[in-house]
Amino acid sequence: MRGRDWDDEGGEEGDERPSSGGTHEEERALKELRTVYRQADAAYAPFSCPASGECCQLAKTRRQPWLWWPEWLLLARRHPLPPPRKDGGCPYLDAEGRRCTVYADRPFGCRTFFCERIRGPARQPADTVTTLLVRLERISQRLMPTLTGPRELLDWHAEALSGNGPEEEEP
Ligand code: SF4
Repeated sequence: MRGRDWDDEGGEEGDERPSSGGTHEEERALKELRTVYRQADAAYAPFSCPASGECCQLAKTRRQPWLWWPEWLLLARRHPLPPPRKDGGCPYLDAEGRRCTVYADRPFGCRTFFCERIRGPARQPADTVTTLLVRLERISQRLMPTLTGPRELLDWHAEALSGNGPEEEEP
């Protein structure tokens, strides 16, 4: 789920523009989240893939990115909620189903998953990924202690479409 030529409408990597409308805690969590994303990208900088978008065809691969709440919050704050795709692909794919339209804000799983066509060093940075995942969990639990695990992207998406997402809940 990597490709240097993919859409980058969300801004540069590490873009620190506010996501607007959030509490101080949310803004702090999103800032930390971007730091985690930058570190994941740095760890995978020596790697590349054909960027075919095939791994974003979620119904075909039967494999989805799992997002902690701040990851979904970042997407929801900075991008319009797209409709589901008829082909079961990630709703954030472009119309042709090849390019990610939220590339700068794509979830951690999209930054660290590669299929067998990955090119680069013999070993992937598994230790760094584990460390960053622990940090990601901590950031999320500070913001939403009741969420004890990440959720599939399509799960967050369906909940948001139904209007029952955490942001819609009464305080
Ligand atoms: S957010 Fe969706 S389209 Fe973008 S890289 Fe992840 S799975 Fe692919």
